Amino acid sequence: MVSTRAQQYDAVVLRREQLSPHLVRLVLGGPGLATFASTGIPDEWVGLVVPGQFQSRYYTVRSWSEGELVLDVVVHEVGLVTEWAQLDVVGQTVTVTEPKGSFSMPVDARWLMLVGDLTALPAMARIASTVDVPTRIWAEVPDDLSAYLSGDVTWLAPPDDGTSSLASVVESIDWPAGDGYFWMAGESAQMRAIRKHLMRERRLPSSAYDVMGYWRGSAQRQPRSVDPGPIWRAGKAAGQSDDQIWAAYDEAGERA
Ligand SMILES: Cc1cc2nc3c(=O)[nH]c(=O)nc-3n(C[C@H](O)[C@H](O)[C@H](O)COP(=O)(O)OP(=O)(O)OC[C@H]3O[C@@H](n4cnc5c(N)ncnc54)[C@H](O)[C@@H]3O)c2cc1C
Repeated sequence: MVSTRAQQYDAVVLRREQLSPHLVRLVLGGPGLATFASTGIPDEWVGLVVPGQFQSRYYTVRSWSEGELVLDVVVHEVGLVTEWAQLDVVGQTVTVTEPKGSFSMPVDARWLMLVGDLTALPAMARIASTVDVPTRIWAEVPDDLSAYLSGDVTWLAPPDDGTSSLASVVESIDWPAGDGYFWMAGESAQMRAIRKHLMRERRLPSSAYDVMGYWRGSAQRQPRSVDPGPIWRAGKAAGQSDDQIWAAYDEAGERA
């Protein structure tokens, strides 16, 4: 029988760098990562379990090179990893799971659009550096991160009331002619609304977009997270599209 248990790796925090008030870079390394291998998919993510915890949170592999795994972690108001990442964590050992990716741009795509909030910035930066089609980016971030991402970027400040302007950005996009690809990530309820818009108003085939809920807005700390691993594997085994899998992941989160 083939085990479906995800591979895990112990990693040591080698460096911690405050990139901006809300973004912390963690560089992980050590012998535990010796067999870690990137999928090469530019929005790939790992599960991260920090010391003293058993729940994981998901972080984009900003880069994996020469034995160093770079994760850029958003520090928001309250949260398991958020609170840990603000401490002096250098030298601590964390666990990461094997990477998975979702970005799947058709080979004949002639343009790419990336839209997201601060949690999506690491993936958007990595995607933008790997594709060779004209790319437009909208990033809604609270800090000046203009050095983080170059190219055709529209920087947006999040509204003061805690909402997001990304839905109206998507609704007012002047879509380029021809076939392309649309990738977006942000708060889950907003991403569900965007998926509906792309499906019903824009009538895009599911192969033309990938919209992922990266976090769930709620008043309190989340009692438990939904592990996307089993949902992902079950969905793939059933031949579902990435979008169908992400919709199932969001629904599981609502039930949790
Ligand atoms: C595939 C994937 C890739 C991701 N990549 C990244 C990445 O590269 N960098 C990154 O920082 N995050 C990324 N995320 C999002 C990250 O996993 C979540 O934001 C996670 O909930 C953060 O965990 P926490 O322990 O800080 O907060 P939690 O303990 O999970 O949540 C505590 C409280 O904070 C709220 N909350 C959670 N996230 C946010 C947020 N971003 N802004 C405001 N409130 C929030 C929750 O609603 C909850 O009330 C990714 C998620 C996925 C699914």
